[in-house]
Amino acid sequence: MVTVKGHHLILTRISVEEKILSLKKTFQKDLQVVKHSKDIEQLKVKYLGRKGPIQGLMVELRNVSPEERPLAGKIINELKKEVEHLCEQALTSFAQAEESKQLEEEKIDVTLPGKQQFLGRRHPIRIMLHEVIDILAGMGFSVQCGPEIDSDWYNFEGLNYPPDHPARDMQDTFYVTEDLLLRSQTSNVQLRSMENYNPPIRIIAPGTVFRNENISARSHVFFHQVEGIYIDEGVSFGDLFATMEEFWAKLFKKSVETRFRPSYFPFVEPGIEVDLKCTACEGRGCRLCKQSGWLEVCGAGMVHPEVLKNGGIDPHKYSGYAWGLGIERLAMLRYGISDIRMFTENDMRLLAQF
Ligand SMILES: [Zn+2]
Repeated sequence: MVTVKGHHLILTRISVEEKILSLKKTFQKDLQVVKHSKDIEQLKVKYLGRKGPIQGLMVELRNVSPEERPLAGKIINELKKEVEHLCEQALTSFAQAEESKQLEEEKIDVTLPGKQQFLGRRHPIRIMLHEVIDILAGMGFSVQCGPEIDSDWYNFEGLNYPPDHPARDMQDTFYVTEDLLLRSQTSNVQLRSMENYNPPIRIIAPGTVFRNENISARSHVFFHQVEGIYIDEGVSFGDLFATMEEFWAKLFKKSVETRFRPSYFPFVEPGIEVDLKCTACEGRGCRLCKQSGWLEVCGAGMVHPEVLKNGGIDPHKYSGYAWGLGIERLAMLRYGISDIRMFTENDMRLLAQF
């Protein structure tokens, strides 16, 4: 019921209730058609905003008679709360629907095939090196390491290679300065061991060595050696032969025939080269042994008295043997690899076989 009093339009609580009822109806219609949480935000602005109908009712309250105003205000507030509540409810259900959709998308199918993981492998040189070390460590040798950049003394002069000695030409060496060089042999560990330990000394020195050579199928600028020495009272060639025999038998897992040829290395006297009966053809002759039936594998000899002296060991009381072998050479024999360059080319077709 609307009455006119002066210029003011007077509302009654009943007319406010009617307005509220129709507002509710339109709001519910609007709410039913929303499809997205964004639409809810728009609904909130439309109904609850400063220019919206609910706020409009609040403004109109001043036209309601003072007696009815509190009750009319109360029902407008209730409408406001209800609209707010319905909007929040709708927002929550939209959020829940969104979340369950996402969960559905992220579901893990445990029946799908897994992604293949590639594990790293050991390089054939490392495999060979560790096999040699394991065998010799098991025979009582301890492992010593030496510097890869060393002085001329430890690599040459102290090992009985005086300056201008022709034997120095056997190894083309990379020099860093006049006195410093990249070691050309793991023998640079010999004098250090003698300086650091008292006999009996029983050590092996595995490591990388460097030579200033043209790279070819047979030679490279760096490769790996294992050096072994044994120094004690009364060490003889017989001890060297026995150690060699046991070592080769363990490496090839069968007894292997060896042969010794006289040779020359400045730090041993006498020096020998060790040949193995070809492991591929048993000595009949094949491509691997170049039809000779034998494979050169190792240099060895009795430690030169001058070298013992340089290491601070009395050569009248002690004697020792020394030997050294090339790991690349062994790996080429073991795996039938004919070109030393293959070890450094990182060709996966080769590396994946180990
Ligand atoms: Zn052969």
